[in-house]
Amino acid sequence: MLSRVLYVDIGKRSSWVVDKHDIFSKYLGGSGVASKLLLEEARPGIDPFSPEAPIIFSPGYLVGVFPCMVKAVAMFKSPLTKNLGESHAGGHFSSALRFAGYGALVVRGASEYPVAVKIKDDKVRVEMADSLWGLSPLDVERSLRESHYEGMQSVISCGKAGERLVCYSNVIVDRYHHFGRLGLGAVFGSKRLKAISILGTGEIPLESPLAVKEMYEKLNHEVVLSGKMSKYHDLGTSANMLELNELGALPTHNFKDSRFKGAEGISGEVMAESLLRRKISCPGCPIACIHLAGLRTDFAPEHEKGKKEVFSEEVLLPYNYEPMYALGSNLLLSEAKNLLRLIYHCEFLGLDAMMVGNILAWTTEAFEEGRITLDDTLIKPEWGSVEAYLQIINNIVDMKSPFYAKLAQGLLETSKRYGGREYAMIAGNNGMAGYITGYGSIVGALVGARHSHLSNSGYSIDQKTMNQPLSHEQISDFLIEQEDWLYALYSLGACYFCRGVYTKEAVCEALKTVGTEKTKEELMKMGKEIFHNLYKFKVREGFELAEQEPPKRVYQVQTPHGMLKAEEVKAIIKLYIKKREGEGLRLKPEEKALKELLR
Ligand code: SF4
Repeated sequence: MLSRVLYVDIGKRSSWVVDKHDIFSKYLGGSGVASKLLLEEARPGIDPFSPEAPIIFSPGYLVGVFPCMVKAVAMFKSPLTKNLGESHAGGHFSSALRFAGYGALVVRGASEYPVAVKIKDDKVRVEMADSLWGLSPLDVERSLRESHYEGMQSVISCGKAGERLVCYSNVIVDRYHHFGRLGLGAVFGSKRLKAISILGTGEIPLESPLAVKEMYEKLNHEVVLSGKMSKYHDLGTSANMLELNELGALPTHNFKDSRFKGAEGISGEVMAESLLRRKISCPGCPIACIHLAGLRTDFAPEHEKGKKEVFSEEVLLPYNYEPMYALGSNLLLSEAKNLLRLIYHCEFLGLDAMMVGNILAWTTEAFEEGRITLDDTLIKPEWGSVEAYLQIINNIVDMKSPFYAKLAQGLLETSKRYGGREYAMIAGNNGMAGYITGYGSIVGALVGARHSHLSNSGYSIDQKTMNQPLSHEQISDFLIEQEDWLYALYSLGACYFCRGVYTKEAVCEALKTVGTEKTKEELMKMGKEIFHNLYKFKVREGFELAEQEPPKRVYQVQTPHGMLKAEEVKAIIKLYIKKREGEGLRLKPEEKALKELLR
């Protein structure tokens, strides 16, 4: 078992390794190990931007062993929600860390000047990175990637948005993958940590290579030939655009509507026909769900003024459903090229595109209502206007006015100052995902530990039960079962898309081949404990589930399950709380602890 934790203090330029066998034997890796390290490393009430605030990375336990086991988990205190920051990324980062010989990485401290952490197996350096500061994550990757190497290499970096502490800035992994949500980029920026590069040249020791090989082939067969994952290879998640539009579950016009007349123009089908250039995979995954589109950008336009022919270059950028809804239908943008321009801008600056979509939609509506004026925005936001939106994104990152400085903190803070909370489309302060499918999607986002649609697949119970009434009991049981099981999978490094392949039976069998015996019940218990750890952190930091409410807008839009009602949402959350408390989980912050936090 790889139970070595690498600690790096970037303020002191030092590093050391601690063996944490007890945590790894209980939680294996990924979310499980990271949840425990977060509780250990982050003192109660810590400021997410304080030098002592830790960033924890943990690759899943089966990363580098079985197909689609590729994810690394990042945990930190989120500057956006002020409680749990948890984000998962594919790409080479998790395998590079494991091949370098570590089960987890903890970054602490802060530097006075920009630095990059460079790890090559057991050699760890904190180097000055002045020349990288201000660069886009895409340029940083180009600059730090070694061209000749053996082993597994990964480069992760924040962009200008992270440097400027925009609370929903991200960290980009190997160009095309992301620790996308909850503001890890800003935590990097607060430490003046621009990038981490890892080169791992070791291997993962296996007790029974033949048994692993046999299991690998069995799983690979399921991944490739069962059809369970073919959607992800074909159009990818961008297929959801037309499917959800057809169902009447596609958030449109800041969730005012659930169907978009212009959906065709930004659909996965149109992208695939005219803009798709390549499909790529995480290492060890045969699916290649990452669809890369080609976007022509002007090459040095200042040299081309007055000329008939303008030179341009083509950049490749990843697209999938979530940014497509957030920056597309939700903003009434119906041209694929314009949508790509917005996605590229978010990538270039290192911003969570989903949250940016929610922010732009709120800004446009608040402007229409007169809550904010040109004095605040400096430019008129208009539905579907790509030029205005590009400028607004720049203004947020540059914090061009007091309004933009507030907007950089997220929609809760902005709506506290300017109003408009009823259409600030956030759940638990995180931007809502692109599903207005019914109660499952709304309650799932509110109760999920990281307020993501990937927390508990709440949207999927809505989609599976069209035209069937669902009881509160069914919804809350589904959300609990799903989230507990997903946390077991997230401790192993599973990609969310392969959950249909990695059934409980398959996971037990796979674990056995690497010498870890766990029953289905033990795995479920482990997943539940991980969820409890995460909520312990959230509650400790002041999060109170009973107070969570969705924006009123979700009650004003037609969903496939009809118009949703506030009292129903409240009742489902109440039942969910009762069930979770029945498991022994405390969901209310202690008075004393709250006072301490507010002090
Ligand atoms: S399905 Fe996609 S995200 Fe998941 S492991 Fe494969 S390539 Fe990576």
